[in-house]
Amino acid sequence: MLHTGLQMVTRGRGLHNRYRNQPGHTRMRPLKKYYQQPLRPVEPAYDRKLTFDKLTDVYNSGTAHEEDQPCHLQILQPAICHTRCTEEYGNPCQFFCPADVYEMAESASGRHLQVNFSNCVHCKTCDIMDPYEIINWVTPEGGGGPGYELL
Ligand code: SF4
Repeated sequence: MLHTGLQMVTRGRGLHNRYRNQPGHTRMRPLKKYYQQPLRPVEPAYDRKLTFDKLTDVYNSGTAHEEDQPCHLQILQPAICHTRCTEEYGNPCQFFCPADVYEMAESASGRHLQVNFSNCVHCKTCDIMDPYEIINWVTPEGGGGPGYELL
């Protein structure tokens, strides 16, 4: 509390200069640096008492967006997703997003990124962890998002 008070009178400085930080994605390493062989998918286990799958968590968060609004997660260079990103990082957006928004889907035209934006819980992890910085998070329409009043 004392430090907070000092920060208020020193315009945010407080007792020391700003903490050093760096964008989260700069700490991400390519798969081949971690593994000597292709990545094997791991099936997570949930007890459904204390731990839940992502979609159950999204449901419990009361998240809602108008389904027909423009997608608020803009992929600036979609071709990277199923080429370089698949090979170099294994499409990490599928794993770091807590709401199953990003999904590599198969279709007749091949593998592509499907963005289930209505699940988004607005944590903005993708904004800092995407290794190519091609996910542009913009404000969704109409106050959509998690049901904060349920907390
Ligand atoms: Fe997923 Fe969070 Fe990004 Fe929304 S903001 S798409 S929940 S990582």
